[in-house]
Amino acid sequence: MFSCFTLRRNRAHAVSPRDSHRRHMLIVVAAILLEIVGIWLRGHRLGGNVVVRCRKGHLFTTIWIPAASLKSLRLGWWRFQRCPVGKHWSLVTPVKESDLSEEQKRTAHENKDIRIP
Ligand SMILES: [Zn+2]
Repeated sequence: MFSCFTLRRNRAHAVSPRDSHRRHMLIVVAAILLEIVGIWLRGHRLGGNVVVRCRKGHLFTTIWIPAASLKSLRLGWWRFQRCPVGKHWSLVTPVKESDLSEEQKRTAHENKDIRIP
């Protein structure tokens, strides 16, 4: 009886830190999934070239891989990265290609930033 109680208590102690780790992992996974769904809803291919607009309105193409970004600072849906059009640093957000005119699409595809996600 006593040994059984001790065993159960020890197990409870061993499980709790693992549970908080699992909860943290779930939040990370949920954030990644939300971003994937967000990109998908905007009609973008996953992990591919995405047309983005900087705060000054410049359009360019960048590689947008959900949850993976080496050259920019991630701020949820926004990213802080270098704009190759105005040659300045800016917050950029993905734009729907279907919302762009032919001229805007052409400009966006002509301006590609460095090929690192
Ligand atoms: Zn710009």
